[in-house]
Amino acid sequence: MSNPELDKLISDTEKYLQNVKTFYPFNIYIEKDIKPAAVKQYKEPIVEDVKVKYDAAPVEEIKPETKVVIEKDLFGNEVTVKEEWEFAETLEQMNEKICNCQNCALGATRTKFVFGVGNPNADIVLVGEAPGADEDKQGFPFVGRAGQLLNQILAAVELKREEVYICNILKCRPPGNRNPLPEEIVQCEPYLKHQLNLIKPKLILALGKFAADTLLNLNQPLNKMRGKIHHYSGIKTMVTYHPAALLRNQQWKRPTWEDMKQFKKLYDEIKK
Ligand code: SF4
Repeated sequence: MSNPELDKLISDTEKYLQNVKTFYPFNIYIEKDIKPAAVKQYKEPIVEDVKVKYDAAPVEEIKPETKVVIEKDLFGNEVTVKEEWEFAETLEQMNEKICNCQNCALGATRTKFVFGVGNPNADIVLVGEAPGADEDKQGFPFVGRAGQLLNQILAAVELKREEVYICNILKCRPPGNRNPLPEEIVQCEPYLKHQLNLIKPKLILALGKFAADTLLNLNQPLNKMRGKIHHYSGIKTMVTYHPAALLRNQQWKRPTWEDMKQFKKLYDEIKK
């Protein structure tokens, strides 16, 4: 006999396990022919209670490090000259103004400029390191296998890619996927800050050690930066592994799942 409550419970559990499966390299099978009493016992999905540590870091205002040039006009008065993109009021305007950027050597070697993609009013911004080969070809961040895994990771905590914003610290691919150089970051990071000013997210998730190092400037192993709430430009920031690293290191999927649960919990609290 059909039991709607039991069917719903099984369906919810199935969905939950499919999400969790993203983080584990084994298959999960649902045994549906079980007694209601047994189901009741497992009514609460097996989720560890995650304690989020709160740092007492002060919330600063977002102050983009715009390039401000002081010049003298014909009458000897000092005038402030900003670059055009600094006046952009939307992401589209900003993209148009900087998509031909040649401020560092990567401008000459890129195939496509990778500005960022997603909801321009997102509460969450995901920040990676720099475009890889697929991103450089297509002009969008987190495409290819790492991008697919990122979609699954988001889905596992009931977030859709379309509701967040995704970008990188660098907008152009370093040749051979080498690490970005300090001078490239100095040139490119103001773009990220202006993007954040326009989006005004409530949370940032730094993907991978490089992004975390650049945003937080802590010079710590990634493992030490995980599980805590940091701040970047006044925005609460958490850290987890880069999806590309997870493809190479299956053992990091479990800690990533823990990070994502913490991140989602914080997001739910902020939304309330
Ligand atoms: S990496 Fe950034 S600073 Fe360098 S050329 Fe590309 S957009 Fe300009």
